[in-house]
Amino acid sequence: MLTGGCLCGAIRYRATGTPEFQGLCHCRDCQKLSGGGHTGFICFPKEAVAIEGEVLVHQGTGGSGRPADRIYCPRCYSPLFGTSEVMPGKINIYAGSLDDPGQFKPRVAIFTRSRQPWDDGSRNLKCYETLPDAG
Ligand SMILES: [Zn+2]
Ligand SMILES: [Zn+2]
Repeated sequence: MLTGGCLCGAIRYRATGTPEFQGLCHCRDCQKLSGGGHTGFICFPKEAVAIEGEVLVHQGTGGSGRPADRIYCPRCYSPLFGTSEVMPGKINIYAGSLDDPGQFKPRVAIFTRSRQPWDDGSRNLKCYETLPDAG
């Protein structure tokens, strides 16, 4: 089981079961979102993640160019989750929000076409220029 929450503690979550997919996303949106080179994401079916607290949803566009929502704490604005049209029924937990970020085991790096030369954490992962589906 994975547990986590935002910086101020207003939002808590718990995810049960095994993640379907986890890795680092280097898309420009994730860089803007995180203020760093990537976000770490852990993908679960939506029903596997229980969220406590009232979240703030910002509707935007994902790295794929398709609609994607980012979900924040409305009090401290920590980004906690992302959902996107290209992954229906799934929710991505942002790994930095875990109570124990050591539980995050990134396997892939996506949108490496936007990876920056100063961001080396994913060089040894399986890398995709965009999304795995796109080849
Ligand atoms: Zn908060
Ligand atoms: Zn991204």
